[in-house]
Amino acid sequence: MTEAVNWTELRREAAEAARRAYAPYSGLRVGAAALLDDGEIITGCNVENASFGLTLCAECGLVSNLYDSGGGQMLAISVVAGDGDPLMPCGRCRQILIEIGGPELKVDSDDGPRRLDSLLPGAYTEADLNERKD
Ligand SMILES: [Zn+2]
Repeated sequence: MTEAVNWTELRREAAEAARRAYAPYSGLRVGAAALLDDGEIITGCNVENASFGLTLCAECGLVSNLYDSGGGQMLAISVVAGDGDPLMPCGRCRQILIEIGGPELKVDSDDGPRRLDSLLPGAYTEADLNERKD
């Protein structure tokens, strides 16, 4: 079922979600709201953590933007630090990238491009899930 978008309502829902955010470190509260095809509205907010290790990485934002902008197949990715030099994706991001970009995704490194599957050998993938589920 397709419904017209009530942007005023959607923005209000997003603003309410932002008020529920947990952002004591940056002070930047963020909320999001989406209208689903069944008419439901879902929301989300940012949640920070004192460990900072649980902070969402640049690659996570990239993948979100990929889908938010309509999707597509990634062929190569470069992740750099503030000095402009390559920074390898963390373990969590490698897992995220292998599902979204595939094992052949080229990853920039100090030693030149590397296939993602060389950075995450024996990766858990959708195939494992399909083979092992009940
Ligand atoms: Zn990461």
